[in-house]
Amino acid sequence: MNNKLYGNLIFELSKEGRRGYSLPKNQFGDYDIPAEACRKADAALPECDEMTVVRHYTNHSENNFGVNNGFYPLGSCTMKYNPVINEEVANMPEFAGLHPMQPASTVQGALDVYEQLQKHLSAISGLSRFTLNPFAGAHGELTGLMIIRAYHESRGDSKRVKVIIPDSAHGTNPASAAVCGLEVVEVKSTAQGYVDVNDLRALLDDTVAAMMMTNPNTLGMFEQEIPEIAKLVHECGGLMYYDGANLNPMLGASRPGDMGFDVMHINLHKTFSTPHGGGGPGAGPVGVREGLEKFLPGASEALSLADVKAIDFAADGAGRISVGPYHGNFGVLLRALTYILTLGRENLKMVGPLATLNANYIKESLKDEYLLPIEGLCKHEFVFDGLRDKSTGVTTMDVAKRLLDYGYHAPTIYFPLLFHESLMIEPTENESKDTIDGFIAVMRKIAEEARTNPDIVKSAPHNTPISRVDDVLAAKHPVVKFRDIEA
Ligand SMILES: *Cc1c(COP(=O)(O)O)cnc(C)c1O
Repeated sequence: MNNKLYGNLIFELSKEGRRGYSLPKNQFGDYDIPAEACRKADAALPECDEMTVVRHYTNHSENNFGVNNGFYPLGSCTMKYNPVINEEVANMPEFAGLHPMQPASTVQGALDVYEQLQKHLSAISGLSRFTLNPFAGAHGELTGLMIIRAYHESRGDSKRVKVIIPDSAHGTNPASAAVCGLEVVEVKSTAQGYVDVNDLRALLDDTVAAMMMTNPNTLGMFEQEIPEIAKLVHECGGLMYYDGANLNPMLGASRPGDMGFDVMHINLHKTFSTPHGGGGPGAGPVGVREGLEKFLPGASEALSLADVKAIDFAADGAGRISVGPYHGNFGVLLRALTYILTLGRENLKMVGPLATLNANYIKESLKDEYLLPIEGLCKHEFVFDGLRDKSTGVTTMDVAKRLLDYGYHAPTIYFPLLFHESLMIEPTENESKDTIDGFIAVMRKIAEEARTNPDIVKSAPHNTPISRVDDVLAAKHPVVKFRDIEA
C-alpha cells in the first residue's frame, strides 16, 4: 500500500541542489541581521522538487485513518463527523485574517460570535455564563478548579484543599486537581458502575473544595444519584464540578445546571464537531451557575457591543487563563457555533437520543461474544472487558489491530482502568444502520476467528502500511530525528 517510490521520509528523497521554490523579489530592502542571530552553518534541510514534495505528503495523508475514511468508534473521544461548512466558516478571511491585537472596535463581529456561542452553551447546559478561553478539556478543568478555589478564598475559607474524584474518572481530572494545588481523594464505584454514595459520605467534611463528576460516567452509565450527591456535597460547603467533555448524550436529554452542578467544562472539539484526531486544536469552555460569574477568568460587566468594548480578560476572578488578549482557539469556537446553528434547536435535541440508540444497539448485538461487565442501558458509549471466550489468548489489543484489517478504526482500548481488557465503543449519532451493522458483523467475525484461527488475530494487522509497532520501545527510545535513524 505504501508507495515506496516516494519514500517514508522527505529526507530520503533529498538530492543535493534540487529546488522546489523560488523566492519573490525582495520588496522590503536589506537589513543587517546581528551576527549572533546568524547561523554558522547551513540548516540540514531536504532538497526536493515541488512534485516530489506534493506526492510525498499526499501519499502519507492516504496512510492515515480519519473519520472521513471510515467508522471510528473511539470511546470517550467522540470522533464525530465534522461538516465541511464548519471549515468554510472558520476559513473565511474576515475571521481567519484577524489579528488578536487589533483594536476592539475593528473586531466587533468576532466578539459577537463569542457572545452568541457563550449564550448557546449556557442554554444547552443550564448554566449562567461561559468563558470560551481555555484551549482544551484539561485546560477547562484547571480553569474550573481555579474558579472554585477563587470562590472559596473569596469567603475566607482557606482550608478547602480536597477534590473528590470517582475511580472511573478520566485521568485529566486528578491531574488538573494536582496542577491546581489541590489534594485528590478517590471515591469508589459500585459494582453497577455508579459513584458509591456511602463511600462518598465518609469522605465529606469542611476541607472539601469540590466533587468532580462525569455524567454519563466513563462507563457510559448515567449516574443515578446526582441529586443526592449534589445535596451532600453542597451541605458540606463544597461545589459540584461537571466534566462535560462528552456532552453528546446529554444534548436533548438533560442539563448539568438543572442537576445541581456549579461549574463545568465542555469539549467543543468532541461534542461540537471540530476535527481532533491528531490531538488538537481544541477548546474547553467553562461555565458557571448564577452567582459565580465574577470568578470567571476576566469576566466583564460590560459586554454590550454598543459600548465597543473588548471582552476584558484581565479582571480578578481566576485571572488570565489564556495567553495575551487571545480569546481562545477562535477557529474552534467558529466551528462550534456553525455546528449549533446549522443543526438548530430541534435537531440538536436528536443528537443525544440517537447516539444513545446506536451505542445500545451495538452493545446488545455483541454481548454474546464480548464480555459486558456492566449490564443495562448505556448512554453514548459502553465498555466490553475483552472477548467472552479468552481461552485462545486473543486480547483486546489483538481485536483492535484486527479491526484495522477490515477498515475500521479501533475503539478505545485499556481504558477505563476498571477492567483488564477494556474495549470502549462510542459510535456517535451520525452513523447509518448499514455502517453499524457492518461493524457488528466484523466484530463477530473477529470473535469467530479468535476461536478458529487465533494466530491471524494475534499477528494483525496484515493489510496496513505498517504492521504492529513496538510501542514500548517507541516510548522508551523515541526516534524523532532523521539523523537518529541513520545512526
Ligand atoms: C477527552 C476528555 C477530557 C480531556 O479533554 P482534552 O481536550 O483532551 O484535554 C476530560 N474528561 C473526559 C471525560 C474526556 O473524555
